[in-house]
Amino acid sequence: MWNTMESRGVSSIIFDLDNTLVDTAGAGRIAIQKVCELLKSMHVQESHIKDICDHFLRKLLHESFDPSEGKTIDDVRIHHWYEALQETQGTDLASSCYYIWKNTRLQVLTLSPEVRSLLGELRKNYKLLLITNGDTQTQWEKIEAVRCKGLFSLVVVGGDHPEQKPARSIFTHCFESAGVRPQDCVMVGDCLSTDIQGGINAGHPDNLQDPDNEKNSFDSKRQPESEIPMTL
Ligand SMILES: [Mg+2]
Repeated sequence: MWNTMESRGVSSIIFDLDNTLVDTAGAGRIAIQKVCELLKSMHVQESHIKDICDHFLRKLLHESFDPSEGKTIDDVRIHHWYEALQETQGTDLASSCYYIWKNTRLQVLTLSPEVRSLLGELRKNYKLLLITNGDTQTQWEKIEAVRCKGLFSLVVVGGDHPEQKPARSIFTHCFESAGVRPQDCVMVGDCLSTDIQGGINAGHPDNLQDPDNEKNSFDSKRQPESEIPMTL
């Protein structure tokens, strides 16, 4: 893969964070397990525990968060637990469940030594960029927890911008801020609909459509940009 990138003149690699560089799903499973242990210690029935956690995870999956409404993401997610708990256990536990879930997830989330080392090697030859979707607080807390900011020339959190991946605007912001061109980048991510579609959306600059444009002369041997994005 790296040889191919070299021959294409790739100089920058844009990474996704969740479930690409870090195992967010795995950390989430461990965090839910910790909440189960808490509820068990409170003598909540096993069948109820599963329903409560499933309810929370459904709320999380379909979550919409608008910071302009004056609530924090913590408020919103405590309310998910509040709703999940109210049918069976009352609501006093909502905050405890939330902070056990949140803090466990952040504690477990790590950049493995192998990935850290790989990024360290890559940054000797490539400019490394990170674009991660999600709300501002949640994503910056993860970035801080895994101590990865220093590995990247630029870190872009979707929640800080009007549009998230796969919108072209967030990629354009990234290219301009990092001083790179779309055609010099590859996108590495786990999600076809955001990372890879985003890479495709962003990788069709008009000047590549024009073979007579002098600026593109060195690109003549390149494959169409739609072939450049890849998954890890
Ligand atoms: Mg991801």
